[in-house]
Amino acid sequence: MSNSGLSDSVKRKHLNQLATYRDEELRPHPALHSLFFELTINCNEHCLHCGSKCGDISEEAPLTTAEWKHILDDVKKDFGTDALRLCITGGEPLLNKDFFDIMGYAHSLGFDWGMTSNGTLITPEVAHKLAETGMRTISISVDGLKDTHDWFRQVPGSYERTMAGIRNLLNEKSFNHVQVTTVVHHRNIGELDEMYEIMKALGIRSWRVINIEPIGRAKDNPELMLTGDEYKYVLDFIKTHRFESPMEVTYGCSHFLPIEYEREVRKWYFLCNAGVYTASIMYNGNIGACLDIERRPELVEGNIRRDRFKDVWEKGFKIYRSDYRKCGPCKDCPDYKYCAGDSFHTWNFDKMEPNLCLRKLL
Ligand code: SF4
Ligand code: SF4
Repeated sequence: MSNSGLSDSVKRKHLNQLATYRDEELRPHPALHSLFFELTINCNEHCLHCGSKCGDISEEAPLTTAEWKHILDDVKKDFGTDALRLCITGGEPLLNKDFFDIMGYAHSLGFDWGMTSNGTLITPEVAHKLAETGMRTISISVDGLKDTHDWFRQVPGSYERTMAGIRNLLNEKSFNHVQVTTVVHHRNIGELDEMYEIMKALGIRSWRVINIEPIGRAKDNPELMLTGDEYKYVLDFIKTHRFESPMEVTYGCSHFLPIEYEREVRKWYFLCNAGVYTASIMYNGNIGACLDIERRPELVEGNIRRDRFKDVWEKGFKIYRSDYRKCGPCKDCPDYKYCAGDSFHTWNFDKMEPNLCLRKLL
């Protein structure tokens, strides 16, 4: 059954159009839409899937508040604030001691901003301050029912604090979008039905259901990875519930999917935004494409302490704007035109092949 009402041949036509747009328009003329600020890599949780391994790395020479404000000034001058969205993340971004100072400044400059958080620090007062400093959207992580979530985050009591944080945000009644994100893995996949009822009862606007990825700390926990059948189960679950109630259920930006799932589990077709729509400034000033991508010296495009972000955006990010990944198993793949090597965050830069190819797995 199709949610979109689109036949496979119409989807192929759309995918062809998107591939042409990517190759002929977007790669030569990238359009920055989302700029991520990693305000800290400190975290009060220790998640088994953390892509950045937060808590295992200590912050070395983090950007100061004055430096973040200087970046905001430059970005406003160079890109304006109308077409650009700031995505605030960490670590747990609220652990930056000057969080409200920095984001209040961004708001005063006219930036639209949203955030991802584990929700545990969002008291009613914090929710109110987030509204005052102009936050529009937020995504909070809930990774299972109480016991599973606490185990996965390795902090007893985390689930209750997170759920309280979500309720405090909803009670504030001033955000455009309060979303929950759930990372599905081998141990929580059986809890999805029960979680669905809990999420619906909360009154959130959308529930983003994504799969655990072989990145960061999750690489040390291979037993959590999903099997092919489990991936199908997750995608079918999203497809079934996608438009069932006022709460939208959606997949994330990752992975080129088999045609029966493309456009059925999210609003758009697969296109990895890294380096064409999306860039990031890391806690230490390093400039990269997407924070989920493996941190390797050769993938650092510049540093905000010596480079102006605009110059790096215009002259750097070359691998993201080319057929750099047309090699290994992707070279002769019939779907390369649409997939282009899949998500950059699951690309294996040592072996030059994808760590995860759902076309192959499903
Ligand atoms: S690297 Fe991954 S998370 Fe980042 S934009 Fe691409 S698909 Fe999305
Ligand atoms: S082989 Fe490569 S290009 Fe083909 S679907 Fe898999 S990841 Fe994408």
